[in-house]
Amino acid sequence: MTAGGQRSLHEAAVAQFHHAADLIDLEPRYREILSYPKNEIIVNFPVTLDDGTLKVFTGYRIQHNNILGPFKGGLRFHPDVDLDEVRALAAWMTFKTALVALPFGGAKGGLTIDPADYSEGEMRRVVRRFTHALGSNIGPDHDIPAPDMGTSSQTMDWLMDTYANMSSPGFRQSVKGVVTGKSVAVGGSVGREEATGRGVLYSLRHWCGEKDVRLDELSIAVQGFGNVGSHFAVLAAEAGCVIRGVADHTGTVVNEEGIDVEKLRVWVAEHGGVADFAGADAVDTEELFALDVDVLVPAALENQLTVERAKTFSGRLVIEAANGPTTPDAVDYLLNQGVEIVPDILANAGGVIVSYFEWLQNKSARAWSFDDVDKRLRELVWQAHDKVVHCVRERDCSRRDAAYIVALDRLVDVYNRRGIFP
Ligand code: NAD
Repeated sequence: MTAGGQRSLHEAAVAQFHHAADLIDLEPRYREILSYPKNEIIVNFPVTLDDGTLKVFTGYRIQHNNILGPFKGGLRFHPDVDLDEVRALAAWMTFKTALVALPFGGAKGGLTIDPADYSEGEMRRVVRRFTHALGSNIGPDHDIPAPDMGTSSQTMDWLMDTYANMSSPGFRQSVKGVVTGKSVAVGGSVGREEATGRGVLYSLRHWCGEKDVRLDELSIAVQGFGNVGSHFAVLAAEAGCVIRGVADHTGTVVNEEGIDVEKLRVWVAEHGGVADFAGADAVDTEELFALDVDVLVPAALENQLTVERAKTFSGRLVIEAANGPTTPDAVDYLLNQGVEIVPDILANAGGVIVSYFEWLQNKSARAWSFDDVDKRLRELVWQAHDKVVHCVRERDCSRRDAAYIVALDRLVDVYNRRGIFP
């Protein structure tokens, strides 16, 4: 529990899976195993800063489960990162990879740092020392990090290069798959950069198909305009949706007629945030949630859609592009109001799906075309949605419960066949 008597993020994540586990009478031993991370790695490592002083950083890598394949999950660099948050994010990865039928387990890593406070040279040294400190706890067939908040393809390029230099010469070329989300020149996949946002759009398209709604009839508010939020917004606008509001850590901007999100992206690249963008009006953050829109896409941090904010939302759909963006009481409130929620482990799975494609390309030393990546991404996202919708109809449960049930079916099947060691 937190100091305020509320569930911590990890407790909330475990409660989500227990809720679904209750519906299928999950065997207690599997509930027990999946309630805990398998390994928790904490490293403290020193870095010399530009002014000659030395600072010790604390990094985390939580390996939740690997019954389906190597641990897989992003690295987050953010001032609020702590062990509890990384534990929750790692658990969500296990259910996400199981849900979308990838041969991966779940993990997450993080560093409590604000990258904006450090020079590029300092960040390069931080990433190299973090990779060195993790050492053999990561590896292309063991645990494979990827980008998340505050990290990018540049971070992954440095990580891969450091890991390769730590490997014996005969293996340096074959360890490229130690991370995904690298830049294409360094062994990344075309389509990885925008994959999570594209997966969110495919989730929205699937929902439109189900409800017989046209994409170009929809208006949207997006919270978070980083990797996930900006790519989603640009793709959704291209598909005809009207993006009425966008918020990030610098402010909130709205335009009833629709924000030119391509221009907003250029503005954010130059100015670091949406604040002061000329093509829209600046409003208070709370107004984003009260906008007259059909769809809300939280794509920033967890616990952003609180019950107070949910009470002001008048639309019909929330697509959780971020991990854990809706508080448990807001989830209950929205579902009671008939608002549908596409849960995070389904909505934002596009990133890990294309990470899997990158890993396959690295293993086979081949490069797929954008069309191949895109077609296979859409197939995997829609197959998972089909299973979830089928489960919702069969069990009359929420999409979140259904997503966990589909994931649990796969995990339990493999546990039953392999047995529990020894
Ligand atoms: P990012 O660092 O690229 O962008 C984060 C965005 O959130 C920025 O626009 C930032 O300004 C905004 N933000 C931060 N604090 C905010 C606040 N208090 N209020 C409003 N906006 C705020 O991160 P990202 O990679 O886009 O990740 C966003 C979410 O998506 C996270 O929950 C992450 O775990 C999840 N996710 C990311 C990926 C991926 O491939 N990058 C994959 C799956 C899930």
